[in-house]
Amino acid sequence: MSATAPAGTSDRHGPASTTDAPGAAPAVEVRGVSRTFATRSGDVVALSDVDLTVRAGEFVSLIGPSGCGKSTLLRLIADLDEPSAGELAVFGRPPRVARENHDFGIAFQQAGLLPWRSVRGNVELPLELHGTGRAARRARAAELLEMVGLSDFADHLPDQLSGGMQQRVAIARALAESPSLLLMDEPFGALDEMTREHVQTELLRLRAESGAAVVFVTHSIPEAVYLSDRVVVMSARPGRVREVVPVALGGAGERGEDLREDGEFFDRVRAVREALHGTGSSAPRGVETR
Ligand code: ADP
Ligand code: MG
Repeated sequence: MSATAPAGTSDRHGPASTTDAPGAAPAVEVRGVSRTFATRSGDVVALSDVDLTVRAGEFVSLIGPSGCGKSTLLRLIADLDEPSAGELAVFGRPPRVARENHDFGIAFQQAGLLPWRSVRGNVELPLELHGTGRAARRARAAELLEMVGLSDFADHLPDQLSGGMQQRVAIARALAESPSLLLMDEPFGALDEMTREHVQTELLRLRAESGAAVVFVTHSIPEAVYLSDRVVVMSARPGRVREVVPVALGGAGERGEDLREDGEFFDRVRAVREALHGTGSSAPRGVETR
């Protein structure tokens, strides 16, 4: 189904291209979704009756104990898996159609760069796979590497870069086709704390520039609060949505590093922590061991 897709793909790299995404539809709609895996030791209910709406341009984090189905939910949205029950829509269309239409970009915990390709070659890869011409690929990769501050490293190989830089390359690659939605599964999980805070701030900037919605899986409460418009707190198996905590700390483009010192920030951190543990508990009881 590509009736609404542009004839050529070589000019798909305008800013925040939403040309073929119906404006009114939410970025993600999840309705009554369950996912059960049949294993040798019986059925594993990874998700049970999950409802979630992510508005266009909204930043939503998923947080919850290990094994509560966060990655499973992201994979369903990304059309990498199918629900056992319920329905999903991405910009009002089945995830498969959204995937074919390049409506979303994906970045996972491991940067997943091809080690034999240069930084530029990695960023160009999705464009190459989808038939964008060489000159347009080059131009888009240059623009993206500039955006993530890696212009000087275009010709380097991934293993010549630090972990934080590799993750920025992965984000640039995820943004290559100007998706209206970014799906990120613990993308900063392997980074040291300082690098992590830096790329978080950078992600907020990129997101403000692109206007993309983001669904972001994390184990870190402060990370979820710092980045998100809303934090979806999930419960342990079977994974369900336990609570949705609105964060709304200033506009997307206005969050700076000083926010991390803000009283309101700590209030939201406490709210998410209490939602994770059940109300009444405010002590950090080792929630997020991995
Ligand atoms: P999270 O990302 O929140 O840590 P996952 O979504 O990876 O959790 O997994 C949720 C549950 O589903 C876990 O119990 C996991 O073992 C199980 N699971 C995930 N994928 C599969 C699979 N392909 N086959 C069997 N069980 C799976
Ligand atoms: Mg996971």
